[in-house]
Amino acid sequence: MTRRTVIENCAIATVDADGTEYASGHLVLADDRIEAVGAGRAPRDVENVVRRIDASGHLATPGLVNTHHHFYQWLTRGLATDHNLFDWLVALYPVWARIDEEMVYAAAQGSLAMMARGGVTTTTDHHYVFPRGCGDLSGVIVRAAREIGVRFTLARGSMDRGEKDGGLPPDFAVESLEGALAATEATIDAHHDASFGAMTQVAVAPCSPFSVSTELLREGAELARRKGVRLHTHGSETVEEEKFCRELFGMGPTAYFESTGWLGEDVWMAHCVHMTDDDIAAFARTGTGVAHCPSSNARLAAGIARVPDLLAVGVPVGLGVDGTASNESGELHTELRNALLINRLGPHREAALGARQVLRLGTHGGAQVLGRAREIGSLEPGKLADLVLWRMDTLAHSSIADPVAALVLGAPAPVTASFVNGRQIVEDGRLLSADEDAIARSTREQARRLARIAASTA
Ligand SMILES: [Zn+2]
Repeated sequence: MTRRTVIENCAIATVDADGTEYASGHLVLADDRIEAVGAGRAPRDVENVVRRIDASGHLATPGLVNTHHHFYQWLTRGLATDHNLFDWLVALYPVWARIDEEMVYAAAQGSLAMMARGGVTTTTDHHYVFPRGCGDLSGVIVRAAREIGVRFTLARGSMDRGEKDGGLPPDFAVESLEGALAATEATIDAHHDASFGAMTQVAVAPCSPFSVSTELLREGAELARRKGVRLHTHGSETVEEEKFCRELFGMGPTAYFESTGWLGEDVWMAHCVHMTDDDIAAFARTGTGVAHCPSSNARLAAGIARVPDLLAVGVPVGLGVDGTASNESGELHTELRNALLINRLGPHREAALGARQVLRLGTHGGAQVLGRAREIGSLEPGKLADLVLWRMDTLAHSSIADPVAALVLGAPAPVTASFVNGRQIVEDGRLLSADEDAIARSTREQARRLARIAASTA
């Protein structure tokens, strides 16, 4: 029997192609899918209704989609707070090289819990630190995502260009080329689900031009295409990276990525701050996607990504938290606001981005760059029931007339309910799927353990 949930009396921003909104509307969820969305109350003849939610005072949106993160960094928040990217990496690599299964599992729980209670229903984790003898880190990350109940893409990262090869990471923190490729393939075989509505997918994700070899990029791209999975990496994040690429490869990052097979509709890249007009044209021509991470770019003084220029030529853009060592809040809903504000400080000023545009980036745009726009990212019949009810009738928002402006420009809105595949995972701002207080304790313990081990081996 189909089990239906009716949600009514709320404002709805569907984020469909026409940007359809309802000042007061209804949604019907049937099992794991959205069956109907429309104005006014739901039809009275809907059958097999197991739950009816009066969502007065709320805004319903698609669940937020986070397109870039590093869960393990949950244990190293608040360190190297006045550094640029390269100095920050050099300060943190020796600590990160000491992570183990227990630490990474706790960090993944913390990262996932924080995002879920703020309206994220789909996320990625770009994990690229695999110290020798660290155990099955991919396995514990996937387990944490399943337990919290968030839709998930594990971007299996890697680094094989240590200091002795002119790279940035210390030699003890990198894998071999063959080892990284074999482990990535094994992770795809173990966890990637290509079916509609999949809860777990895997992408091939060498870390960055300054931490991986040209061969790993090239062979990683071949592996991803042979397996039919997506490709992810960091690109054009800082002026230092641009300089590194010019010195080592004789070209800028985008040309280097193109020469190694790393532009295409199946690729999304984090940051893309330092892009020339030609770089942006190459992304548009190839359909390469971008994960825009405004808070992290500000925290590491990387610069302002040219989001309005990317959107103007049709580049798919989603939003990203980035790792919490460079964005301690670990939330995505505040990135809506930050994306709008930071882009308005750029050359397009007030015309840079609007509230509805950033909501689109945080939902449909994210679904697009993860290759899942047929399944999620908007509230439309036939799509998966991944959605959020934001509370808009408290002191923080009740006097803001436009609910989308309230969500984007106002204080972080409380999440009354969040659904993934029609299953509720958050109620009144608290996780239903896990014990937040227990996670808070275990992440604190593991952060201290990591600090202790790193100090004793320094
Ligand atoms: Zn990153």
